[in-house]
Amino acid sequence: MEENRIQKKDIASYSYEELISEMEKIGEKPFRGKQIFSWIHEKLADDFLKMTNLSGAFRKKLDCLYEVPKVQMVARQISKKDPTEKFLFELVDGSMIESVLMKYDYGNSVCISSQVGCRMGCRFCASAIGGLERNLMPSEMLGQVYQIQKLTGERISNVVIMGTGEPLDNYDNFLKFVRLLSDEHGLHISQRNITVSTCGIVPNMKRLAEERLQITLALSLHGSNQEKRKMLMPVAGRYELSEVMRACDYYFEKTGRRPTFEYSLVKGVNDGEEDARELIRLLRDRNCHLNLIPVNPVKERGFERPERKNALAFKNKLEKNGINVTIRREKGSDIDGACGQLRRRYADAKKER
Ligand code: SAH
Repeated sequence: MEENRIQKKDIASYSYEELISEMEKIGEKPFRGKQIFSWIHEKLADDFLKMTNLSGAFRKKLDCLYEVPKVQMVARQISKKDPTEKFLFELVDGSMIESVLMKYDYGNSVCISSQVGCRMGCRFCASAIGGLERNLMPSEMLGQVYQIQKLTGERISNVVIMGTGEPLDNYDNFLKFVRLLSDEHGLHISQRNITVSTCGIVPNMKRLAEERLQITLALSLHGSNQEKRKMLMPVAGRYELSEVMRACDYYFEKTGRRPTFEYSLVKGVNDGEEDARELIRLLRDRNCHLNLIPVNPVKERGFERPERKNALAFKNKLEKNGINVTIRREKGSDIDGACGQLRRRYADAKKER
């Protein structure tokens, strides 16, 4: 698999320290690194021409060696029912990715993709259709946030890595992205306002616990026992539920951050009495939050969501048993922007243009 096809070096994926030493390597003063970092990550410039406090000759030199990989908007859909917008972006190699902006009372949240496609194969998810094409670079994850902030003029305060892709299957780039996004010399988004969702790649959950970050870990649970989970999520064949739960406990131990569990409610599959009972047994002694997501329709998948009253009854049962639970506020389903509805859309987008 090709990581990316960028010929020039990707200058927007360097950390602050790396960029300073990179400038020294090409015979420039270290402060040039600081200036460029600020242009890219604070002022959100994606072109050397815009870096007006650098000389023309230096900008030309930069342009020969480096590139800020473009994340270019090709379509924007605005939801009619929610304060939600979906963006389709084209990357330098022609790959297409989607991202979603959700406006809440407490601030603006962006949901970004971490890969082009996904190889986890969850049965109910549109992102898995067609498999994995490639990993995203840190700059391409950042680019989604930066572009949305520029295009809308809205300040982004929260970022969730819950779009297409499995972030912990692209671990190094994902980690670098989080560090850059929260860097005090850049956009400086608080780590407490960053949430990463994983289908449960145990070794990388443990590594993440040891990184000394303050981000929230969300685990896609979807089944209350090993068999049911495996039926919905092939990755459960590699990592048993008990191991996954231990990794969540470890994350809490190391970071003090309470994990979130995500549970897509699928009618007749995981929304019964016994499922609720097992879920209670699994979560009641854990300091955690449970987010129920009535499954969103994906036309190739055919799963149905429970009736509203049944979803509420499921929630109430858990609540009565001391589980901290909410039903996720659905946003953007009319533009296929809700959980599990993002996809590559490569062919469609090409046709539309
Ligand atoms: N790969 C990561 C993040 C992507 S999905 C993960 O698996 O966690 C973000 C959340 O949406 C996950 O909990 C995912 O399981 C859930 N999801 C996927 N398809 C869905 C659908 N059709 N309806 C509701 N939630 C869905």
